[in-house]
Amino acid sequence: MSSGIHEKLGIRGKFLLISTLSIALCALSVFMVSLKEHEAIYIKSVENNLEALTTNVADDLLFTFSEDPDNFVLKNKLLTFERYDHILYAYVYDANWNLIERYIKPSARPTRIVHDPRYQSLIAHKKPFPVTHINDFLVCMEPIGNPEFPVGYLEVIHDFKQPIADSRHDLLITAIPLVLLILLISSIISWYMFRRILTPLIRLSAFTRQVKHTRDYTLQHSPEGVNEVLHLSQDINSMLETINQENQLNQEQNKKLRQQQASMFRLANYDHLTGLPNRRYVMETLEQQLSSAQKRHTDMAIFFFNIDSFKDINDLMGHATGDQLLHHLSRIISGCLRRDDILARLGGDDFLVVLPDLPDPDIAKQIAQTILEQLKAPIAIEQWEIHTSVSIGIAMAKASGFDIDTLISNADIAMSYSKAAGKGSYRLFKPKMLSLKRRTLQIMNLIPMALENNEFFLVYQPKVSRQGGVIGFEALIRWNNPELGFIPPSEFIPIAENGGKIGEITSWMLCRAIQDLEQIQAICSYPVVVSVNISSKDLMTPQLENVLQSALEEHHQDITRLQFEITESSYLEKFDVANQFFSRIKALGSSIALDDFGTGYSSLSYLNRIDIDTLKIDRQFVVNSFNSDKDASVLNAILDLTKQLGLHSCCEGVETEEHARYLIERGCDSLQGYYFSQPVPLADLAQAIRSSVQQYHRLFDQVRLPDHA
Ligand code: C2E
Ligand code: CA
Ligand code: CA
Repeated sequence: MSSGIHEKLGIRGKFLLISTLSIALCALSVFMVSLKEHEAIYIKSVENNLEALTTNVADDLLFTFSEDPDNFVLKNKLLTFERYDHILYAYVYDANWNLIERYIKPSARPTRIVHDPRYQSLIAHKKPFPVTHINDFLVCMEPIGNPEFPVGYLEVIHDFKQPIADSRHDLLITAIPLVLLILLISSIISWYMFRRILTPLIRLSAFTRQVKHTRDYTLQHSPEGVNEVLHLSQDINSMLETINQENQLNQEQNKKLRQQQASMFRLANYDHLTGLPNRRYVMETLEQQLSSAQKRHTDMAIFFFNIDSFKDINDLMGHATGDQLLHHLSRIISGCLRRDDILARLGGDDFLVVLPDLPDPDIAKQIAQTILEQLKAPIAIEQWEIHTSVSIGIAMAKASGFDIDTLISNADIAMSYSKAAGKGSYRLFKPKMLSLKRRTLQIMNLIPMALENNEFFLVYQPKVSRQGGVIGFEALIRWNNPELGFIPPSEFIPIAENGGKIGEITSWMLCRAIQDLEQIQAICSYPVVVSVNISSKDLMTPQLENVLQSALEEHHQDITRLQFEITESSYLEKFDVANQFFSRIKALGSSIALDDFGTGYSSLSYLNRIDIDTLKIDRQFVVNSFNSDKDASVLNAILDLTKQLGLHSCCEGVETEEHARYLIERGCDSLQGYYFSQPVPLADLAQAIRSSVQQYHRLFDQVRLPDHA
């Protein structure tokens, strides 16, 4: 409450209150002092007057006493006191202190002075006394006549209370307006001084409040007022300048800090190359979305994918091109997604797409299909026109129990299926994939032991020339595992390639084929060529050539007895490396066959740039030639092309008499297939040769062989 009043009064009110109070106090004390002084002077003068009057009247009475004192005369004389308002009583005593006459003012009320002990003791002394102050009265006793021998005594009692009161009243009447005037004048002067001194201070205070509310430290106060206030204004201004500078500095630092935080956030959560969210960010988001989907009982999906043969693109075209491809690809794929879907780069060429709120797996499939369609167009980067594709694995959250690790693992498994099924495809995770994945891992782990335990063996499939002779054999690897039984090469070769185990298998296969060469030659009794399959991964292992060389030396064999088969896609994936490898091999006298020709690439322009001997035309053209005119014309075109390029043509998958006859009629140089012989172990090779020749002769029992040789 009191603090409230303090606040309400403010500095202005307080100043005025204090100054008015102190002036009033001063005036009052001056007034009191003067009142006291006035009373003292008044009393003194009344005492003097009373003494003089009493002496005068006593002198007057002496004449009356000198004659025979007559009471009437005495009374008359005493009536002199009537003129004096405040003389209440006068008593005349004779020399023996007998009261002989008295005067009592008619208006005087009975007084109690006679009972006052001081008065009584004075009177009891029976002696004159000067003016004496008793209670509200002045009493005086003068001798009449010679003080040594007085004839009588005159006592006068003067009322003192009333005159003092009157005098005080008079004084107050004159002094109060004066005091009020002084108060007024001093208040006005204080007010004026206050305005002069304090207004700038109050303005300054208002200014500081403005600064506080607006937080605008660029504000400046125009200096005014007397010295101290002026200095204070200047000090506040310079303080504000300093604060403003500090503030600006702070703001700049804050801005930098915010920028740093933002860039740190980007660094921590986004991939610098593609600008996409990174693994850390997408994993956090996925975790949140999974728990929210689980709570809301909705489903969602993820895509896990990487770029098919990305490593080869990097090797062939350089890492800068690879980086640009990642960038382009992420933009194309982003364009295929819905607004809330998230595309993230996990690292390398691994990507993850989070598709929230996706109740139907078919929608995920549609989106995956759109991505694959969009990627069909080649991407132009620098001088390259890159044909690329991705293999997508799709997994649904509900089917993965909303568990992030299971979900990603399922998508990963689905992706490996999509890769195995052929590049540029998608697969939705199915629980049975898990068992297949387990088998893949099992196969991968069994390979080293299989090599150690000699579980692999080779079979040979004859190649029959258009003239009917067995001109060579393709060595094909076989694996009989005690645990898993027969594992076809189409299953374990890709697993070995992906698991980095193909090098050891190829080395084993090469050594065994070279070792078998002697026996094969012995069976055939004329020079034949054994074809071996090598994978694109083998081209990257430098020890392959060493293994080859030492095996040839060990078994005293000539490299000219070997032909290397590499698939068209493998060759093109590692174009430069393959070119270098095969030109070295060819220089030594070996020959090269391009396997599965026609399945991989639409452009044939590269054929001018590679040095091969044989085109092995894929089985699908042979089989389909009888079903589709289109395939038949492609087969014819390939055979013509082979001829024009001066290459040897070999058709695979010749299963029927019809196939064989048709191919020979079309000018195919050599044929390979079940029609002539299954791939057989070395022990059955002689029999396979015989049956191949027999099969050939069956062809031309009725038909005359056209001369293409
Ligand atoms: P490929 O090089 O195209 O081998 C020809 C495949 O066709 C062989 O399958 C062979 O048995 C099969 N084949 C032969 N004639 C016919 C026929 O008339 N009809 C049908 N339907 N198939 C026929 P295989 O032995 O299962 O080998 C599959 C693939 O595994 C091979 O295809 C080759 O790519 C790979 N492979 C086999 N052995 C090796 C090897 O030692 N090293 C490497 N790197 N790959 C090998
Ligand atoms: Ca082959
Ligand atoms: Ca083939």
